[in-house]
Amino acid sequence: MEQKNKYIRLAADLQTDSIVDGPGLRAVLWTQGCHHQCKGCQNPQTWDFNGGGLVPIEAVKEAIDELEYHTGLTLSGGDPMYQVEACLEIIKYARNKGLNIWVYTGFTWEEIIEMSKKKKVYMEFLKYVDVLVDGRFILEERDLSLLFRGSRNQRLIDVPKTLEKKEIILLDEKKYNEEELFKKEPMFI
Ligand code: SF4
Repeated sequence: MEQKNKYIRLAADLQTDSIVDGPGLRAVLWTQGCHHQCKGCQNPQTWDFNGGGLVPIEAVKEAIDELEYHTGLTLSGGDPMYQVEACLEIIKYARNKGLNIWVYTGFTWEEIIEMSKKKKVYMEFLKYVDVLVDGRFILEERDLSLLFRGSRNQRLIDVPKTLEKKEIILLDEKKYNEEELFKKEPMFI
């Protein structure tokens, strides 16, 4: 158990140059392991729960310490929800450093809420997430014009508002219009 909480299984080193996995310049943590098997998944190499490599959580924190000029940290995969304890420790740390947190998961919001009834850590995890991009990738619903997501069934959920109102509140996508963002926060290009 101790061991489990000290390591996270990752598909790759922390990526530090993403501008497509949420707004601004972002670091992306690619978790390893996924059971959803979405047809058309772009990262099938991340499905194997024995693939990738075990990385000490402390090493991930050190990599986060090295970030400069970053808007946020995105968790993707794979599916971060399969390693929720380790991911929680990492996003708590990143939040304290001022990074906003986006999470991509194949589970829907409703499924995670159900899971949280049996395992409280899922709700604890959600408290540190700014935006949850939820749901499996559905090839038939693919739409390249969507902001920060691949298929129409997936939602950009504003997690703090959703938790507060106890109903799903979607992200105001207009806020993420690049021109508007540039005007407000010129460093996030
Ligand atoms: S949830 Fe994501 S990583 Fe998992 S199969 Fe679906 S698209 Fe691939």
